[in-house]
This record gives sequence, structure tokens and C-alpha cells, in this order.
Amino acid sequence: MESIGLQKSEMAELRSNQHSPGALFPLLPDSVMVCIYAVQVFGQPPAILTPRSPAVIFSCQQKWPRIHFIPALFTVSLLAAILLPARPAAAVVWSTLFTAQDVRDHLSSEQGRQEALEFCRKMGIAKVYIESFRDGYQAEEATLKAARDFFRQAGLTVSGCVTTTGLGKPSSGWRVAACYTHRPNQERLESIFRFTAPLFDEIMIDDFFFTDCECSECASAKGALSWQQYREKLMLQISRERVLGPAHAANPRVKVIIKFPQWYDLFHQRGYVPDQEAALFDRIWVGTELRDPASDEWGHKQQYMGYFIYRWLTDVGGSKTGGGWFDPFGTTPTLYLDQPLTTILAGAPEVFLFHYGALASSEYHAQADAMAARRVQYEKLATFASGWSGIATYKPVSSDPGEEAYIFDEIGMLGIPEAPTAHFPEGARAAILTTQALGDTELVPKLLRLLAAGGTAFISQPLAHRLNGDPRVPTPAPLDLEKNQYLKTVEVGGGKLVMFSDALPHLTHVDAQDRIAQPTPELRNALEELRRKVSNFTVTSLDAPPRVAVYPLGGRVAVVNYTELPVACRLTGLAGMAHKLTQLNALDGATLAPDGATLRLPPHAALVVE
Ligand SMILES: [Zn+2]
Repeated sequence: MESIGLQKSEMAELRSNQHSPGALFPLLPDSVMVCIYAVQVFGQPPAILTPRSPAVIFSCQQKWPRIHFIPALFTVSLLAAILLPARPAAAVVWSTLFTAQDVRDHLSSEQGRQEALEFCRKMGIAKVYIESFRDGYQAEEATLKAARDFFRQAGLTVSGCVTTTGLGKPSSGWRVAACYTHRPNQERLESIFRFTAPLFDEIMIDDFFFTDCECSECASAKGALSWQQYREKLMLQISRERVLGPAHAANPRVKVIIKFPQWYDLFHQRGYVPDQEAALFDRIWVGTELRDPASDEWGHKQQYMGYFIYRWLTDVGGSKTGGGWFDPFGTTPTLYLDQPLTTILAGAPEVFLFHYGALASSEYHAQADAMAARRVQYEKLATFASGWSGIATYKPVSSDPGEEAYIFDEIGMLGIPEAPTAHFPEGARAAILTTQALGDTELVPKLLRLLAAGGTAFISQPLAHRLNGDPRVPTPAPLDLEKNQYLKTVEVGGGKLVMFSDALPHLTHVDAQDRIAQPTPELRNALEELRRKVSNFTVTSLDAPPRVAVYPLGGRVAVVNYTELPVACRLTGLAGMAHKLTQLNALDGATLAPDGATLRLPPHAALVVE
């Protein structure tokens, strides 16, 4: 079902076409980590300040209640002044793209450029990307230069963009992608970057820079490698030799950004290698596109996906992570607004609105208007987006999801906050582990160390099934759930394994008629019990229905109601900190009740409390 849905969504995408910063920190003493954490709490940008793993976040929180940060403020300001680059005045930069076709259709005349500028002013857009190539069409050099200079003179920041579709010979699989073994395709790609790099000092690559080709040329070049190994090797080689090398040769100042698609659980099948690509490219970008969760065509994706992928890729790319990107396809205006909301909560310093031609069209201008009307409230929300925490949720790079593709998004939609990481959370008090964790060949010894330190591992049913019978795991009881059993805790090696049934995350599934299943009393109890266990480690809600997400942000918490019904709920966890709340920011009619505990959230509304 999942793969069918995905194929369809991919087809729709085609039709519509258009850090580990930890590397910086692991050796720093705790006192420095506290300063770093305090900087996050007090709203500095996430760029270089996210600790490597949620384990570090936990240790800071455990040792230093929030009030202890205040005396550190002066030091922090000093540190920030020394370490941080100058920040833009706004907490978030809005940007948009003129596709190569938009350049041809809208930026060839003075009048067209003026209209485009008016659109940017209305949307608060301070940065534009002007694309030189897409779908086999290369924009005219004179038009690109005229547009670039026009927007620069109007005070906007201008970058370039390339979309690697229509290079020539298509992939034998998803035909929007190319066959990168085919030499003429490689040469075409190189010529596009040689053409574009002298025009712009920054170039974004849209997320079609992958392949699933199995043509005879690819099959023979692959040799004894697996398809995954061959594609990863091929795309890294093409990146170096046909993109970065030629671009830097043509313009030594140019920075090249690789944008990753939102389908993070399938990267390994199509040659995306985020850790190695993040090391290779100057910056990375994150696809935070969300769709109607009821849509068969788009694969019933959950809104938490935008948060999960942004935080996970930030753990991979660290300070190179530049921002989020979404589009209006497959959305209503209401669903469209879930995207800026979620992207900003995830911490994107730049929000990229794809693309001018669509957003200014009669089909999608309602989405653009809705966004423009709320821009200021999102900018205020961005000032609270820092200090992300939750239960360390492990997805190694290039890991296969098995039967659990995008399970993380469903867990997040249960109101269970996740701290996504591509590194095993050594030292964490708790972790969420699913089939993806098997991508780490050292999983079992690492898990045993976590348990030996008294840790708790929340284990999905398919992973428990795979670990069951492993002689290295000294369990007194089978690691498996009985029929109609939804939750089971087993004490193992000094810690706890909490196994949860597939049925719990699937409570968030929205069917094609826009319905979610009514939980049985047994399921309802199991969900509450799971949340109680989670509340030992982070903040959650015991009484919120599925599809209400909880985002701990330092000492604050944002709660978003992604259901279609009004919700009243309470928070729990963090050793009673959630007892008496203060409202900090409310979007779209959300309020904190006078009791200081009940959050009232209309559909798609958000509330930030302290
Ligand atoms: Zn091929």
C-alpha cells in the first residue's frame, strides 16, 4: 500500500512539476554545553548551536533546570557576539523560486518583473532564486541577468537554481530522473553548471538529483555492487565531477546547495547519501512538503513528517542546513498553512515557497493569500523555535524502513515528541527504536549499553520481532507482543524495553474519506499507558486525541492540533513543570483556559506555552 501510494505521489509530483553540528561539540565540557544550550533557549539561531545528539539535550535539561540559565545570559550574549554571524532582522527569511519556465514566461519583460516584485513585497519575500534549467529547458542568459540585476536593485538577495530534469536519457524507473551512467547526460549536466555558476554566487539544486535507473548501461557499470551501492557511489561521483568541480571552476565563490526530498525513508534506494552529500556540498536544504493526509494520491502522509525530516537532516548537516521548502500542490489553503507552521517549528531560518508561477496562478493564489495574511504571526512563532527536544529517535543514514516507512511521523502525531537523530543516542535515558535502527550493524551492543545504564528503549513491534531470539539480548520473556496486546514492558540488562504495537501509531492514519479509526477501549488504555511512560522523559499529553503534536522547545512547549475538530487537552511530564502554564503565543484562535492547564485548540491551530 505504502509503495503504491508513494508511486502515485511521485507521479503527482512529476505532474505538478514543475548538521552533524555534533562534530563541533562532542569534546566540549558540560559547562560549555550549558552555555550552548542556554543560547538555544534564549532564541539564537539554530545554525551552529544544535548539540550533536538528543542525549546531550537531555543531559543539559536534567542537570540544569531552566532558571539556572539566567545568570549565564551575559556570558551567552558575549559568546554569541563572538561566535555568531550577523543575523537578519527577521527570525525567518521568506524566499521563492522563479523556475526556468517562470523566467521565460514572467521575467522577460519589465512589466512581468514589476508584477513579480509586487508579489514578493506582498509575501514578505526577501530572497529569490532564479532558475537556469528545468525539464530540458535552459533559460536565456540575457533574461537571467536582467532578472538578477532587477531584483538586486530592488534590495532582494538573489541566487540561482538548477533542476536536473530533462537532461536527456531518462531513468528506466521514475522517468523524471535521469540515467547518470549515460555519458551525454553527464556532459549536459556539467554544461548547465558551467553556464549557471558565473551568473550566481549560490545555486540550489532541486530534489530530482537522484536515479533509480536499471538500464543496460547502468547494469553493466554496476558490476558486482548492489543497486544501492552503485547509485550512492555514482551520485557522489557525479556531484564531485559534473556539478561541484565545474561550478567552482567557473566561479570560485559559488556555493552549491543540495535540496533533499521529503521521502527520507527511501533515500538509499535512489542514491541520496545525506551525510556524505552534506560533507561534499556547501549547504543542504530540506523538503518539508506536506499533503492532504487523506489523499491516496499523495500516500496518506502525516504532517509531523515536515518536522521529523527537518530535525533529522539538521542532525546530519549541522550548520550547513539552510532552510525548508514546500509547495501548494495537494493542499487546500488550510492544509497549505500546516507547512509554514511545521517548517518554522522545526527551526528553518529560511522558508522557501515553491514557486512563483504556481503561487501567483488562479489555481493556488488562495494558498499564497492565506500565507500572506498570517506571515507576521509565523515570524513571531519563529522566535520561539529553539531548544528542540524529545525522545531520541534513531534513523541511521541509508537505513531501510522495512514495513515501517515513515513510522516516525505517526509516532510524532500521537503527541510523543521525537528528537530525530542519525547517530545512536549513546548516553540517552530513553530512545525510540524501529526497523530503521537495524541499519546500524552495532545496534544490539549499543542497545545493551543503553539498557545497562538504566535506559528505556521504546521498541516498535516489527523491530521487537526481529530482536526476539537474539542470544545477545538477555531477556526473561519473549520480545514479542501477544495477539491483542498493544504494550509490553520487559526488564532487560538493567533497563527497560517497552514494546508498542503497530496499532498505536496507526491510530493517526487518515483514510480516503477523511476519517480516523475509533480506538477500542483497550487501544485507548494502551495509548494512555504509553504516553505515561513517555512522560518520564519529556512532555506529552495524556488526553489529546491522535493527530495532536507536542513540540518541546527549551522550557516552552508548542502544541498543534492537526485534526479537523476542536481539541481541549492538558500537558504532562517534565516533573510537574506542566502544572501551571503561561500562554506565550497563539495562532488561529488557540487559547490557554483560565485554569492555566487546559489548552483549547481549533483545527490546525497552535499554542505556545511556558
Ligand atoms: Zn541507466
